[in-house]
Amino acid sequence: MRYSFDIQQQESGVVTRVLPGTGVGAAAVVAPVHRLADRPIQPPPTRRKKSIEEEVVALEQAALAVQNLLQTRASAAAGEISAILTALSAFAADPALLMAAKAEINNGWDSPTAISRAAKSFAQMLQSAGGAFAERAADLDEIALRITAHLTNQEWSVEIPTSGRYVLVAEDLTPADTSQINPKIVVGVITQKGGPTSHTSIICRQMGIAAVVGCAAALELTNGDVVLVDPVGDRVVIDGNLNDATAALPIVDPDAATLIPVYGNIGNQKDAKSVVAMHGAGVGLFRTELLYLDADSSPTISEQRKIYEEVFTELGNRPIVIRTLDAGSDKPLKFLNLAAEENPALGVRGWRIAGPQPQVIFDQLTAIKQAADSTGADVRVMAPMISIPQEAHAFAAMAREVGLHHIGIMIETPAIAFAVRDLAGHVEFVSIGTNDLAQYLFAADRQHNALADFLDPWQPALLRTINRICDDAARIKISVGVCGEAAADPLLAVVLAGIGVNSVSAAAPAIPGVRTRLALVSFDQAKQAADLAMKATSASQAKELVKAYLN
Ligand code: PEP
Ligand code: MG
Repeated sequence: MRYSFDIQQQESGVVTRVLPGTGVGAAAVVAPVHRLADRPIQPPPTRRKKSIEEEVVALEQAALAVQNLLQTRASAAAGEISAILTALSAFAADPALLMAAKAEINNGWDSPTAISRAAKSFAQMLQSAGGAFAERAADLDEIALRITAHLTNQEWSVEIPTSGRYVLVAEDLTPADTSQINPKIVVGVITQKGGPTSHTSIICRQMGIAAVVGCAAALELTNGDVVLVDPVGDRVVIDGNLNDATAALPIVDPDAATLIPVYGNIGNQKDAKSVVAMHGAGVGLFRTELLYLDADSSPTISEQRKIYEEVFTELGNRPIVIRTLDAGSDKPLKFLNLAAEENPALGVRGWRIAGPQPQVIFDQLTAIKQAADSTGADVRVMAPMISIPQEAHAFAAMAREVGLHHIGIMIETPAIAFAVRDLAGHVEFVSIGTNDLAQYLFAADRQHNALADFLDPWQPALLRTINRICDDAARIKISVGVCGEAAADPLLAVVLAGIGVNSVSAAAPAIPGVRTRLALVSFDQAKQAADLAMKATSASQAKELVKAYLN
């Protein structure tokens, strides 16, 4: 068989081949495939043979050429695309990045290796910051690759068709590629990489192009294949017919009632604005550590208060759950001077930093209280990375000491998931961080690409754990939210509501999709979906069963 994906019989009776992925957009299209050239090859790490000066000059010239190219494309583009290209061109000229690359040249590497090493370490920093920062890590890859292509005389011409009607297929599309797309000619996009909030998705959404991203089998498609791009069905169908396209969900009034409220995850004031623009019911997770990733010294109470006031003001009277610093592990904060650890994910992180450095958390809570008082905002506080009830009790006592009263904790470790009843009388809510809960439940590093299947939030064992948390929380009459990535998946949000979760919180771009789903189902349907998912024996089976039931 030529393709490594499912063969299915469509409603029309025709046998077709189906490639699953993540759909972007509402309208399906059918058109022939146009495969883009593969990306340039990153040469293996190579020691410098030329002089330092020669390598530095070559690097500077290549960086300048890339900057100019991107800037030219930015000027020719409009709106969000232009902004993305401008930001990218700024990366190419970033003095810190070039300085780091020059240091690598000094260390004996040639210029392509030097820029790749420098970009990698910057990308890692962004990755460990998580959320929107992590998605920008791919921009650094692109910049390093463009500079490398220039240095090694590799062509990176991506011929985007300028006539006809095509579906573009590529490993991934860079903003520079997408800026050349004419949506009358490129009517669909399929990429092997990318997620619902990657650049490709943002740009396709903006241009109204049907897309399926994160489509693992994309590169098995070849020129001449005719495909149905079915974004609502999260799939590509080879030889598919428009009649086979999954019907789009009806457009739902953004303020329509939903089964459970949909909040937004934020890291700064700009994110808070986006949550409001997306009609989020409030903020379910404010990751405060992201504000201080570069801080060399502890932010003072008044510095913190000012930032919190700005964020709270943006949200008006919507409720906001603010999390105390989740430092350590994937989010190191320089100013805490934490000792290096063998296993940082299992080390001093989250609330555990209150052991050696209680004043840091006490000051943060004080700043939150002051900002809540001065803005009149509806503020709730929670602590990350709690493992035993005594930690929750200590956090609640500290928060009460500064005068805060709406107090909760995150459930991110299996131990606390099974000790929820011991929280009675101390906290009024819990918020499940499915990213870390999955990491610790499955003993699978959340940053390890090869372990992604364990971390799939559809894993039945994770859903059953959430079920247990909800049962115990209901017994002691405290509410349960989910603020990990699980909450950003519309179908899974329905399952969570059916399990008994009282609210979900996701990054702003995911809010409309989640809200639409939650506005269209009844509680009985959600319960049925939850039963199907929890009884499944694999993540993919759970998702397929729920999809078949709800679609
Ligand atoms: C989580 O672990 O699911 C979570 C929301 O926290 P973070 O992703 O910031 O660790
Ligand atoms: Mg977490």
